[in-house]
Amino acid sequence: MIIDTHAHLDFPEYKSDLESVLSRAREANVGCIINVGTSLASSKKSIALASKFDNIYASVGIHPHDASKVTEQDWQVLESLVKEPKVIAIGETGLDYYRNRSPHEDQQKVFRKQLALAKELNLPVIVHSRDSIADCLNILNEYKNGTFKGVIHCFSGSADTAKKCVEMGFYISFAGPITFSNAINVREVAKTVPIERLLLETDCPFLAPQPKRGERNEPSYLSFIIPVLANIYGISVRDVERITTFNAYKLFGIGKPEMEGKVAYAIRNSLYINLTNRCSNMCSFCMRESHPIVKGHNLKLKREPTFEEVISDIGDTGGYDEVVFCGYGEPTERLDVLIAVARYLKSKGKRIRLDTNGLGDLINGRPIISELKGLIDTICISLNAENAEKYEKICKPVFKDRAYPALIQFIKDASNVVPNVKVSIVDMSDIDVEKCKKIAEELGVEFRVRKYNALG
Ligand code: SF4
Repeated sequence: MIIDTHAHLDFPEYKSDLESVLSRAREANVGCIINVGTSLASSKKSIALASKFDNIYASVGIHPHDASKVTEQDWQVLESLVKEPKVIAIGETGLDYYRNRSPHEDQQKVFRKQLALAKELNLPVIVHSRDSIADCLNILNEYKNGTFKGVIHCFSGSADTAKKCVEMGFYISFAGPITFSNAINVREVAKTVPIERLLLETDCPFLAPQPKRGERNEPSYLSFIIPVLANIYGISVRDVERITTFNAYKLFGIGKPEMEGKVAYAIRNSLYINLTNRCSNMCSFCMRESHPIVKGHNLKLKREPTFEEVISDIGDTGGYDEVVFCGYGEPTERLDVLIAVARYLKSKGKRIRLDTNGLGDLINGRPIISELKGLIDTICISLNAENAEKYEKICKPVFKDRAYPALIQFIKDASNVVPNVKVSIVDMSDIDVEKCKKIAEELGVEFRVRKYNALG
């Protein structure tokens, strides 16, 4: 299921064939649509659509174009509309200095009022910004504290601006223009936006994607945008669908996220196996307790799976390039199941990778690397620090000062047994990258810096 987070199906363009448009949306797997109000009248129509169709939700707001037309009475009506069921956001609001249909002061005043309302009601805002990003960010900054949240829709700014918006807690969405052959810059900017902050939108009836450019847009045309995003992020279409749907759920509370923790889950052409949520570390950057979601997959296990349950969850292994023991937890906490599943996967000719904290010897009370011989093709070990003191500070291992020396020994042992050994650190400012790189060189293993908060 995918979600179009920005549509204007109340516009006259859909007067004669809305049912067909919605039917095509369903066929294209668009499970929810947010119809976004641009004026008082269109906000009322959005609510009417939301009450008529189960899969439509409404956002109410005043577009900057209409800012100078808003009366005090309109404002009071808008405040009452917000309380209607299925109103899940405020907007679209913002600033538009490109068309300048309302004076800047009016736009800013109405924008501020809507931000204050969103904050008061703890609703997300849908922000429109055109040729106005500096003022827009300044005003958003005034309101960003506390529970403020939202999306910058149809984003067309720079990578630097995108970064500021993401740091402020905003989501970003790109409409049809990202598919245009000349939109190289937009695609470059999109690359810099963490996919965990990406939403899908059409902004229909406007901005139809290639190959429908110039025609009336509609929610089913998300199917032309998603492959472009998949290409930009180097992931599959299914990954984009699942991740953006989860993001929309997180921001707007709509759609059905995965409630059950996954044992086997796919990202790109790899199959990941999640054996446990236990870990002997408590790394400062680890989100397994606070947000156990990786690329839209829920990894919070209700209980640890047996060997049989893992095999049943894996199902057909045919389509995957690689199987990875990873998840939110340390796989060697369940060494017996890990080995049994790895044996099964090897019998199917699979390439296997193990992502580990490298403390398996301490966890199991014996050197374990020989038990993995012939089963694991690649092992990725989290080094995470250039010395024991810093490792203890960042990773808070239950094994205290025994952890780092054991980790280094495990890397040495692994390099004698496993064909490909890589060590990694997270790009946190207090980790000395050069010293860690040198340790990897001395141990004769590959070195990688992982992006903070980028998983899967
Ligand atoms: S080693 Fe991995 S699973 Fe364990 S706490 Fe650190 S980041 Fe989380």
